[in-house]
Formats: sequence, C-alpha cells, structure tokens
Amino acid sequence: MRVLEDEQETLKVGRELAAMLRIGDKIALTGTLGAGKTTLARGILEGLGFDEEVPSPTFAIVQQYEPPETIMPIAHVDLYRIEDPEEIQELGLEDTIAVGAMIVEWPDRLPDIFWNDALKITLEITEEGNRRLTWSTGDAWKDRWPQT
Ligand code: ADP
Ligand code: MG
Repeated sequence: MRVLEDEQETLKVGRELAAMLRIGDKIALTGTLGAGKTTLARGILEGLGFDEEVPSPTFAIVQQYEPPETIMPIAHVDLYRIEDPEEIQELGLEDTIAVGAMIVEWPDRLPDIFWNDALKITLEITEEGNRRLTWSTGDAWKDRWPQT
C-alpha cells in the first residue's frame, strides 16, 4: 500500500512503472471517477517518452502510442462506456498485447481471466483527499513489483 499525497506523486508511480514495462504487460487501473487512473497512465506514458498532453481515452476508448513517440507500443484504454463484452472483441486488444503493453481503466468490463497475469492497481480517494494505491500482481510481475 502506498499513500500518494498529490498529483506529482501519482505521476511518479507511473514513471516507476514505465521503467520496468515489458511487451505483453497489462496494467489494470480500478477506481472511481477522479481517483487518478488517467493521471497514473499519464505518468507511465511520460516515462515511455511521450512528451505531449495525454488525452483521456474516455470517448476514443483506445488510444494507441507507437515508437518514436513512445519507446514501445502501448495502448491506453478506457472501458467505461463498454456495455456489451462483444464490443471489446472489436478493439483488437489481443493484437496490441502481442507487440506492446496496455493500460486499462475500468478493467471490470472484461472477465477476470483476462487479468490473470496483470498488475492490478486500485486507487482510492482518502478522507484527506490523498490517494491510496493498492495492488495485486500476476506472475508476470512477481520479480518486478512488490507483492504487497
Ligand atoms: P480518473 O481517470 O480515475 O477518473 P483522473 O486522473 O482523470 O481520474 O483525475 C484525478 C484527479 O485527481 C485529477 O484532478 C488529479 O490532479 C488529481 N490527483 C491525482 N493524483 C492525486 C493525488 N495523489 N492526490 C490528490 N489529487 C490527485
Ligand atoms: Mg480516466
């Protein structure tokens, strides 16, 4: 568990994650609206070298980044507006994961089995207005990120 005192700290966690990101990685970001999911994704993208403003993928659903704008292909995905799991098939997420990584907001729209190997992060807003970051790791993350 980590307490993040401000937006800068949330961005910093993202940059830490970027430094250890590998092809095939899935990062699932759970939390209410305003919890900081997109901020964390922004930190990851910054860490991967993206130096422009990161749009929230709420309406596009999938925002793809590729070299040279980032050092590896990565998709930033927001499944909030997905209602029918069949819509998810059409997003081509399996193709993305074959060549790069993905960061997914509202991962609960997909079955749990999809997240078996993922780094599952939860952000909560504390009474003080900070963010509490908790996580669980799949096998792919065991040697890279603390277990608790
Ligand atoms: P989400 O994608 O979960 O809806 P956003 O990242 O878009 O959330 O928005 C989160 C809001 O919380 C932003 O205004 C951001 O500046 C702020 N924020 C991010 N991290 C923290 C933090 N650790 N403490 C306080 N505010 C934060
Ligand atoms: Mg968001």
